[in-house]
Amino acid sequence: MFVEIILSDSFLLFSDGVNLRFHPSSGPISAKHQLLVNFSDGTSLSASVAMYGGVVCWEKSATCGNNYYQTALSKPSPRTDAFDEAYFQRWIASETLQKLPLKAVLATRQRIPGLGNGCLQDILWVSGPHPRCKLNTLAEDEIGRLFSSIKDTRKEMTELGGRSIEKDLLGQPGSYQMRMCADTKDKPCPRCGSEICKEAYLGGSVYTCPVCQKL
Ligand SMILES: [Zn+2]
Repeated sequence: MFVEIILSDSFLLFSDGVNLRFHPSSGPISAKHQLLVNFSDGTSLSASVAMYGGVVCWEKSATCGNNYYQTALSKPSPRTDAFDEAYFQRWIASETLQKLPLKAVLATRQRIPGLGNGCLQDILWVSGPHPRCKLNTLAEDEIGRLFSSIKDTRKEMTELGGRSIEKDLLGQPGSYQMRMCADTKDKPCPRCGSEICKEAYLGGSVYTCPVCQKL
C-alpha cells in the first residue's frame, strides 16, 4: 500500500490514499496539494490527500515509526510467490482470525499488505462468501476459492493498471472495472442478475450480491 522513494540521505513515503500527479511542464498546478516537488527540468510532482493518506519523510539514520509501513515490510504481498496457499493456510489457522468476519480478516489492519476495502468487494464476490461470514464457518473448498480469488483478482487489477476509480501519475484511470462498487449499486449482478446491495459495515461500505453471497 506504499510507494517508497529512496533519496540520497532520506526516504520519502506515500501511502494509499495519496493522489500523486506528475506535471510534465510548468503549467498550472492545483493549489490543493500537501507536497510539491519541483525538478530542475521544469517538471514537478504533486501529492494531495482527499480523505485520508500519509506522506512521510525520514532520515536514513532513523526508523520510520509508521505501523502500517512496518507491517507491510514484515508480511508477504499477495503479488509475491511467498504468499502461497501453504502460507495462507498457516496464517488463517490463528484462533484470533478464525473468530473474525471475513472483512476484518482480509481488509483491516493491513493484515494482508495492500489489501483494503476497495479490493475486498470483488475478491469476495468472485469467491462467494459474504463479508460478514466468520472465517471459521468456511468449508475447505471455500477457503481454497478465497485464496485463489485473492491472488487472481489482485493480479488482474495490477495487470489492468489498477481500478477504474483510481488514477495513475498522469491522471489516467485504471482499466479494471469493479463488479461490486458504488457505481454498480442497485445494478444487476453480472453472474445472476440480482440487484447489488450496499450496506455500512466495519467502518466502510460493502457491496454484495444477495443471491451469490449468502451469509
Ligand atoms: Zn449474483
